[in-house]
Amino acid sequence: MLIVQKFGGSSVANPQRIARVAERVKNTVADGHRVVVVVSAMGDTTDDLLALAGRVSPNPSPRELDMLLATGEQVSSALLCMALEARGCAAVSLTGGQAGIRTDGIHSKGKITEIDPTRVRAELERGRVVVVAGFQGVSPAGEITTLGRGGSDTTAVALAAALKAGNCEIYTDVDGVYTADPRLVPEARKLDTISYDEMLELASLGAVVLHPRAVELAKLYAVPLVVRSSFHNGPGTLIKEGGEMEQAAAVSGVAHDANVAKIGLFDVEDQPGVAARIFQELARESINVDMIIQGAMRGGRNDIAFTVSRDDLPRALEAVRRIQDQVGAKGITYDEGLAKISIVGAGMVSYPGVAAAMFEALAEAGINIAMISTSEIKVSCAIRREEAERAVRVLYRKFELGGDA
Ligand code: ASP
Ligand code: MG
Repeated sequence: MLIVQKFGGSSVANPQRIARVAERVKNTVADGHRVVVVVSAMGDTTDDLLALAGRVSPNPSPRELDMLLATGEQVSSALLCMALEARGCAAVSLTGGQAGIRTDGIHSKGKITEIDPTRVRAELERGRVVVVAGFQGVSPAGEITTLGRGGSDTTAVALAAALKAGNCEIYTDVDGVYTADPRLVPEARKLDTISYDEMLELASLGAVVLHPRAVELAKLYAVPLVVRSSFHNGPGTLIKEGGEMEQAAAVSGVAHDANVAKIGLFDVEDQPGVAARIFQELARESINVDMIIQGAMRGGRNDIAFTVSRDDLPRALEAVRRIQDQVGAKGITYDEGLAKISIVGAGMVSYPGVAAAMFEALAEAGINIAMISTSEIKVSCAIRREEAERAVRVLYRKFELGGDA
């Protein structure tokens, strides 16, 4: 079978760990499989490179940043190939571009538009393990583009889809997907299986095991995903259509994202097209908007508030200031000290009162709610960042997520 194995930064953080990864890949080959490996940059390399850029320029251009950051994954892919060849396992490293990964060309946030797997297939035919640098591709203009932080997961799933791989294994420093962050809730439980939709909610809500875009892609192409530890041989968590969580209680997991900022525009005109204008401007800048609230109208004017990732706050503020006059906003406020806390469960739709129970638990703990949003399988609240960890524990207890498993 053809297997895609992705190893995150912590799994290739140093030469010993790269050696361990090489052993694992070699064993997979010895089991009779063909293997495509995707690697992240070693350890904190990407952060270190970003810091380095900051030392030479206050405002490095996105193009040069991509040139710089893409080197991190090239280092780990070349080193892993050397380690494989030292073990008698034929291997070749490829950049994203060499592996046929094409992007839309948006620097630092590129999206994969297509994959031409010709080269990867040819290398596999020659009996080599193909090690692809994650997190990067090449634009129609030939520019190296990175896929956004954590983007190597997306590389792995996209390759698995393009190659019709039997499995996509994501190796990381945790044992699998938990019902809550085990660092905050020690009694949190590892799930054996989970559905794409639930994983998608958990991932986009800040359960950092997998990049949300990767989960979306896996669902779209029905790529079976396995999340498991690169440090031992546990079975991990299998993500597929319909999972264990669906038969479970109303709430199956708690997630939090400690990196949330809110922007408010007050006294905007109450007219058709105003919201469209604001969010078009943000979309043009490729800024993801998460929760949105439009406040009650008084005197023909509305308040509109929304959240973005804290990293996007400066650019989002610039964007709304540009259109402030066009939408007649009297003022703009912002708050960069928020977190989002969410409860997730495919069973939620059939249990009324789940949201009420969440608000009640937060109220009993004296935690104030700044914003609320809901979907069929989740309820999210924006709260103060300092209170996020306490909120996770409070909700975990409220919904008895430890279970009896
Ligand atoms: N090295 C990149 C990052 O740290 C991509 C990845 O790890 O997936 O964000
Ligand atoms: Mg990384």
